[in-house]
Amino acid sequence: HEVDIAGVTYITPTANIRPKAHGGRAKCLQRLIRLGLPVPDTYAVDFDTVGRIAQGGRLDAEALIAAFGADPLVSVRPSSEAADWGGPPSVLNIGMNRARHAALSHRLGPGAAAALYARFIQSFATQVARLNPDLFDGQSIDRMLVTYEEQMEEPFPDEPAEQLSAVLSAMARAWDGTTARLLRRARGAPENAGLGLVVQRMVLGVGNPASGESGSGVIQFVSSSTGENRITGRYLRQSQGREALLPGAGALYLGRDTRGESLEESSPQIYADLQLYGGLCRTRLREEMQIEFTMHHGALHILDAVRVKRTSRAALRIAVALATDGIIPEGEAVLRIAPRALLDVLHPQVDPDARLPLIARGIAASPGAATGKLVFSAAAAQAAQSREEDVILVRRETTPDDVLGMHAAKGILCERGGPTSHAAVIARGLGLPCVVGASDIAIDPRARSLRGPDGSIYAEGDVVTLDGSDGRVIQGAAPLLEPAMDDAFRTILDWADERRDIGIRANCDTPDAARTAARFAAEGIGLCRTEHMFFDEGRLTPMREMIFAESADDRAAALDQLLPVQRADFLELFQIMAGKPVTIRLLDPPLHEFLPQDRKGMLDLAASLDLPLAAVERRIQTLSEFNPMLGMRGVRLGIAMPEIYEMQARAIFEAAVQTSPRVTPEVMIPLVSAKREVELVKSRIDAVAAQVRSESGVDFDYHLGVMVETPRAALRADEIAEYATFLSFGTNDLTQMTYGLSRDDAGRFMSAYVREKVFADDPFLQLDTEGVGELLTIGAERGRRGRPDVILSICGEHGGDPDSIAFVRAAGFDYVSCSPYRVPVARMAAAHIAI
Ligand code: PEP
Ligand code: MG
Repeated sequence: HEVDIAGVTYITPTANIRPKAHGGRAKCLQRLIRLGLPVPDTYAVDFDTVGRIAQGGRLDAEALIAAFGADPLVSVRPSSEAADWGGPPSVLNIGMNRARHAALSHRLGPGAAAALYARFIQSFATQVARLNPDLFDGQSIDRMLVTYEEQMEEPFPDEPAEQLSAVLSAMARAWDGTTARLLRRARGAPENAGLGLVVQRMVLGVGNPASGESGSGVIQFVSSSTGENRITGRYLRQSQGREALLPGAGALYLGRDTRGESLEESSPQIYADLQLYGGLCRTRLREEMQIEFTMHHGALHILDAVRVKRTSRAALRIAVALATDGIIPEGEAVLRIAPRALLDVLHPQVDPDARLPLIARGIAASPGAATGKLVFSAAAAQAAQSREEDVILVRRETTPDDVLGMHAAKGILCERGGPTSHAAVIARGLGLPCVVGASDIAIDPRARSLRGPDGSIYAEGDVVTLDGSDGRVIQGAAPLLEPAMDDAFRTILDWADERRDIGIRANCDTPDAARTAARFAAEGIGLCRTEHMFFDEGRLTPMREMIFAESADDRAAALDQLLPVQRADFLELFQIMAGKPVTIRLLDPPLHEFLPQDRKGMLDLAASLDLPLAAVERRIQTLSEFNPMLGMRGVRLGIAMPEIYEMQARAIFEAAVQTSPRVTPEVMIPLVSAKREVELVKSRIDAVAAQVRSESGVDFDYHLGVMVETPRAALRADEIAEYATFLSFGTNDLTQMTYGLSRDDAGRFMSAYVREKVFADDPFLQLDTEGVGELLTIGAERGRRGRPDVILSICGEHGGDPDSIAFVRAAGFDYVSCSPYRVPVARMAAAHIAI
């Protein structure tokens, strides 16, 4: 069987077949041969030779066809390095001609022989001569040959070697076509990706039923959608590939089935052999494989095997099962799962196989999918919730006034905003799917409708599906896959935890979020945004009263109302986290997020403050800022109105002394830019701690930390760290301030920036390692200079992003903190980096 043709190798167990020279299919076939599977004779043509053929070079097809012995039929299949880089379709039954047709008519019957010949003529005519397939439909063999000759002005080639040569060059050239190039580039193939070809002896799959079973099919032993052990696939009598070739061809069930005849019953030995081969592939190739098989007159042949296609949840279950059975090490099972794939398992997903009518696209801001009726106000969402209706809340952008409506909705869609906008951050915390920056829809809040980019109008009550994992708004109810946080999910994360060396905490503002974080085994809360604790029913008003207070007395009265509320909140968080560290950030309300936006909000506020509307309007006027993200926020509020932080510190300490097991609360100061800010706040908090110690008679400790989220704080981290035991980098604001790029407005031009390659990615999603990253490195290094044992972390949205985790781990950070639903992704990503 050996041939002496340059670039062509007969595949034997010991032949030198390499994925990078002959492609993945050739390599896999060699593995199957090594396992002793009945693979028909196969020759591999390497990338270089195929490349030369594409340029007009020739291969000694005569010698190659002769190597198969007398009168063979062969197939040619593509073999690119990675299976999903594509390749031209296979051509089967090469070698069919008048003489073979006559001989096969005799052996297999005229029907089978004619079907094989017709199929070959049609595929040669379309794939090699590039004729229109319809030309040949329903024709007799003779007519087909005449049609071919008329179209091509030359007879259909009769010589097998000539046929093979033409097929090889057509397939080689197809790989160089523009569409094929673009397609594989989109799938991650390099510019110079090569194509190999495998030439294999045909097993016909059609035959004389009296001589035994003939047919073809594929079989796999796990479900592609769940990964559970289940035999699936198909088997078709008298067929090649998916195509039935003879009347009387019929589909059989693979395993025994009450609905009809099965391969297991009609050919028990073959069925047993297939199971054996599947098991061999699993243990020896260390992978679940789908096997392509053909039978001819009762003899089984294995033509190919490919990795079973799988959803994320199936991938998890397969990897865990392989490791549990000792086939792969646990660490390898962890590495086989892409961290982001865990998001698919945590949330409902739009069925990837469904074809769906799209309304619009936006930024995928919070993963998962949900179906519901459109509503255009928070109040409508809440009303729908009381009727137990599922709704998608649509807003231009959201504010704290919308938060209750967001709780009531199944998904959030915003015309504006980016990945760290209010809507995105809240939705991620709630685990709701969210699409923001859908700038090609136009919302008409008065008419309670939205207009899609094609002009269609969608009104309140219309059903849509929101895909927050992919940024899609889909018309109607799309089929969804439910979340699957099963044993496999827990097991793989346990294995990940054993291997990672950076801590993972969660950003939690509410008891619900803390419970989610605890369920996902977060090691603590790395950021509790206390201003978010005032979004709930009845809480926004005292908070607004506090912001609105004009005199210290008024403010003290508002703070008196807030103190017990905060104390109870902190107590609950401490208790849920059961001794794990909890970092509470002092108030950081960008004022524009807390002021009423519309007339109704102002009227409500006027009523609750017992003030005339005009007074409220005037006060809003005084408080409103040109650039609220850079205004009276964070520590600036704490310095200007010390009572606020004093109240919060008291609430934290009073809660801590009531908690058991005892916690050491961590208090964090936001938006610092100068050492003196920290010095001032620290001395006041120390004083409150001393008071609570003496009032309660309980001695306790606390840690004071600083958020590094202005460039200046990173640059001055050494002196700041003198007052801070930990530094937590707020990469949302740090990105905003490093670029001078508004978190809330960047969505409007971000897609243009990414398209024009100004930014490789949205820097609010993907840490800008060059710029913001350098500030992190400088901040970490200087922070450690000021205090060698300072604890370093990040708590911006980047905390859950695998590349960002790798970056901060390399910079020596101690932990990352991210949205609760991101915790599993972060645990997995951290393990990948450490392995
Ligand atoms: C940050 O700026 O990165 C941060 C965590 O704080 P916030 O998002 O609340 O501004
Ligand atoms: Mg911030």
